[in-house]
Amino acid sequence: MDAGLPPASSMRFSLAEAQPLLQSSTLLPPQHFSGNPLDRTYDKRRKFDGTSKQEEVSLVVVAAREVCIRESPGAGGSASSQSGAFGGAGAGGQNTSAGGASVTAAADLQALLLSATDPELDLNSESICLTWVYGDVAYQLPLYLLGQDRTERWTFALDVSDCRSAFLDFLREGCGLGSGVALSDLRAALPQLSRDAAAIAGQATSLSQWHQSHKFCPRCGSPTAPVESGLRRQCVSEAGHKQYPRTDPVVIMLVESPDGRRALLGRNRKFTPGMYTCLSGFVDQCESVEEAVRREVFEESRVLVAGVAVVGSQPWPVGRYGGCELMLGCMAQARSYEVLVNTDEMEDVQWYDKDELRAAVQMYDNAAAQSASAGGAGGGGGEGEGVAEAPMSVAQLQEASLEQLGFFIPPPLAIAHHLIRAWALHEGPWFPPGPPTPPAPAPALAAAAAGSVAPEDGAAAKL
Ligand SMILES: [Zn+2]
Repeated sequence: MDAGLPPASSMRFSLAEAQPLLQSSTLLPPQHFSGNPLDRTYDKRRKFDGTSKQEEVSLVVVAAREVCIRESPGAGGSASSQSGAFGGAGAGGQNTSAGGASVTAAADLQALLLSATDPELDLNSESICLTWVYGDVAYQLPLYLLGQDRTERWTFALDVSDCRSAFLDFLREGCGLGSGVALSDLRAALPQLSRDAAAIAGQATSLSQWHQSHKFCPRCGSPTAPVESGLRRQCVSEAGHKQYPRTDPVVIMLVESPDGRRALLGRNRKFTPGMYTCLSGFVDQCESVEEAVRREVFEESRVLVAGVAVVGSQPWPVGRYGGCELMLGCMAQARSYEVLVNTDEMEDVQWYDKDELRAAVQMYDNAAAQSASAGGAGGGGGEGEGVAEAPMSVAQLQEASLEQLGFFIPPPLAIAHHLIRAWALHEGPWFPPGPPTPPAPAPALAAAAAGSVAPEDGAAAKL
């Protein structure tokens, strides 16, 4: 009955390979930062004991939210002798951008390949590290285990936060990699990276940021140190309090008007002028996704929401406060129209017609088509010399959208783009009109009403 399946003992887990299965539960395509090609199986990483089937290990260089990249002359990447690139991790076929402008992998991660038995590598201790001597100083640079690539080579993040500039000089001059190598903020580098590279860089920078910001125990104030190959930290007190990397859930929602014809978008003061996007906010403690959506929409616009459907998600390692967020993409059904902007949080919130949003999505599609016809259509060539018309940059596209439509929406790197796209291209209302339902109470009133319905009754009513 299991014809064709290998025995469980020989199976490897890869999110990238499992995606066709995972996709079936949501409506949006896999998002940027998802689809990490590394095998991250936690029990396997916990049992890492320094031994390796492969002669080499691979180090992704990070400093908090910065990651080491190099300009890529073309797709593919070469895994060369001393220092190699990550393109070989299997970029082929993974770069089909899900709608909108395609991603041109103009840069790649600059990983370092070291012999697994290199005497400067300590892979056996609790706090694994690389000893790097520069001038008179010997740095113990922390390593965090990320997983195994498709060749079963162990891959680590090498955290150079404590000697960022010196290490970059070393890569450029000491290793002879030249000025094409840079430590770049991940958010800024994202448009240039392949999907695989972005996912690995997201994991590596998230871990680096978490380690850098958790050097003291939140329970007793003692210093902490990385343990279990950097999978967690532990305080040095006798109590040995444990800390694990955390992810903050954020709801992001496209709110459909009661008649199904309009969608609610807003902007806060920090956004680039002209950009309107889905409302969003952190999930509060002990709050469901549905409740968070209703509360956030009410807080920012005073619009009431009834139905909520989760339609996709996106890891977001470049979160607002240096954290790794998980964006929970939702469609929400409004039960009221009137907008009262909460100016403490938002500069503007307003309804947009479906046609307006279709036009805003079309701006990205037009730019993608233009970019493809300008030489990037092959997906693997990238030899774009001699092209007559340069492809439109995202900034140019947004400027054009602002001129023609009066606003623009975020690029396809963000899940908000895909929420807007999915809704705008959907024929008719997202939430089918049904029997009139009573308006959902405002969050402040909901608590008072909740006491009148016994949980058993609520569950039975749903069945
Ligand atoms: Zn402690």
